[in-house]
Amino acid sequence: MTISLTRRAALTGAAALPLAAGTALPAAAEAHGGGKPGLPRARGFALGEMSVTTLLDGTIPRDGAKAIFGGGASDADFARVSAENFIPADMAQFFFTPTLVESGGQKILFDTGLGQGGIATALAEAGVSPDQIDVVVITHMHPDHIGGMMTDGVPTFPNARYVTGRVEYDFWSKMDPGNRVGDLVASNVAPMAEKMSFLEDGGAVAPGITAMASFGHTPGHMGFMLESAGQRLVLTADLANHYVWSFAHPEWEVRFDMDKAAATASRRKVLGMLAAERVPMIGYHMPFPAAGFVETRGAGFRFVPVSYQMM
Ligand SMILES: [Zn+2]
Repeated sequence: MTISLTRRAALTGAAALPLAAGTALPAAAEAHGGGKPGLPRARGFALGEMSVTTLLDGTIPRDGAKAIFGGGASDADFARVSAENFIPADMAQFFFTPTLVESGGQKILFDTGLGQGGIATALAEAGVSPDQIDVVVITHMHPDHIGGMMTDGVPTFPNARYVTGRVEYDFWSKMDPGNRVGDLVASNVAPMAEKMSFLEDGGAVAPGITAMASFGHTPGHMGFMLESAGQRLVLTADLANHYVWSFAHPEWEVRFDMDKAAATASRRKVLGMLAAERVPMIGYHMPFPAAGFVETRGAGFRFVPVSYQMM
């Protein structure tokens, strides 16, 4: 009893510290975009001559995991796969993880987070300020990826040029007013259109960084292949949105996937390639630091989180 009280007191003390230190984030933003106090926000990896850093913009628990990630699964199957992987079946911890790639003297940021300040905090932990970002790449235009493009109506990354998929931009920029995502694209993305270049499948962001169409989650969703000095890594973005359920059963429908069948086909194709060729991946919603490997397991796959590879 003494020990547990002591530990609880210690945890409470640790949790209170950042607030006592006077963080500028309001309480709601801290809960949503802030992550756990003390949780690292930036993790660097070496890939050939590139430096790759995952940036934790935020993390939050959500109830109703089966309804979000288990479309088409029986309750029994969903519970069994969860138990086999040591996670609860009734909640999911969401992570939001933009990635910074430094290559050829350029700082290239993939996605910008929820727009609650987490990305600036994570970048600061990596020793980078927003005005140092040369290129912002948008994998797709859901709010948790474009929310951080603007801060109080002003571009968060004032010196950046922008890159995104042609199909994705054309889809969302033609929405009628009143669509939640379309309205956010109008306020956060469209103002940058003249500094933006638009990619087709296979198009290059910079030398060694190539777009890989993986449509389904959204109409123009794209991942990116990084290649440097013979090493490869794929930024899969929102191809697979839960590290257990979406890998074990790529066919289980995910509420956020706009075209369920296309999303499943993209998961099978890309995860199959990553497993066969033993290429590491970074997934935007994987548990931080969001990097790992893929192996085949039965009729599906398994995500193998990174440990000390690529240090
Ligand atoms: Zn997302």
